[in-house]
Amino acid sequence: MLKVRGDLCIGCGLCVENCPRQAIMIVSATANINQNRCNQCRRCLEVCPKGAIVELVTVSREELESTIASLKFQADDIIYKIEQLQYQDNTKVK
Ligand code: SF4
Ligand code: SF4
Repeated sequence: MLKVRGDLCIGCGLCVENCPRQAIMIVSATANINQNRCNQCRRCLEVCPKGAIVELVTVSREELESTIASLKFQADDIIYKIEQLQYQDNTKVK
């Protein structure tokens, strides 16, 4: 499913002009995709000059938990290494 990032869209209308399904409207200076009309051709995504149209990927709960666990492990490892460096610095000063 494609979604417009409101923080990036400048309302230029290029996506509207290039959509073969007339699935996009500019509402309050931001593009808005009608999911019922969209056929996922991705033309809008390719023409957007701001990279404001993004694809939402569905992720399972297991994949999400696994990614979080991996990031936590990496963060703990970095923190451990920083603490080791601080310890070495402190022992050099003495
Ligand atoms: S993916 Fe294709 S049909 Fe869907 S909004 Fe974009 S240009 Fe239109
Ligand atoms: S092309 Fe991009 S910046 Fe322009 S209106 Fe569409 S989403 Fe917004």
